[in-house]
Amino acid sequence: KSGFISIIGRPNVGKSTFLNRVIGQKIAIMSDKPQTTRNKVQGVLTLEKSQMIFIDTPGIHIPKHKLGDFMLKVAKNTLREVDVIIFMVNATEPRGKIDELIMDMLENNETPVFLVINKIDQVHPDELINIINSYKNKYDFAEIIPISALQGNNVDRLLETIQKYL
Ligand code: GDP
Ligand code: MG
Repeated sequence: KSGFISIIGRPNVGKSTFLNRVIGQKIAIMSDKPQTTRNKVQGVLTLEKSQMIFIDTPGIHIPKHKLGDFMLKVAKNTLREVDVIIFMVNATEPRGKIDELIMDMLENNETPVFLVINKIDQVHPDELINIINSYKNKYDFAEIIPISALQGNNVDRLLETIQKYL
């Protein structure tokens, strides 16, 4: 099985940390190839039974008033074409304006969206439940998975769950 995954989320939630953890130095190898850069491939993870191609979605966290209609369309179309969207949020911060904009953008999109709550190494489990609920009642996520991209907690479970959707 093989499929495309797009990771979206406001700056500093840990998107690059996650990609570096799962793909590591392959990212650098990929970016040396001009054709893959053009295709916005951030990296490819090859596992025993599956291959995950992570692609970039430019413009996704730019506020709507600054984002032209064209860019918004490009971002939305990219998100329609992938197999899984990872919406990454920060467990240590409350839901913010950019999160709202992203969830608005995801409205009417039929691609499964995973809510991935990162940085769980920094929060108490009770707080984590509150933050999960604050997102959950705003959007119907296909999966909700708390992780620590930095320490690696639950990252394997996330990858296993993605495989079910490819
Ligand atoms: P991006 O802007 O979404 O790509 O976020 P980065 O991957 O650059 O991470 C932003 C900051 O958060 C960096 O200082 C990371 O080390 C830190 N960070 C990322 N993931 C975690 C995590 O799981 N736990 C903690 N404590 N810090 C993290
Ligand atoms: Mg980054």
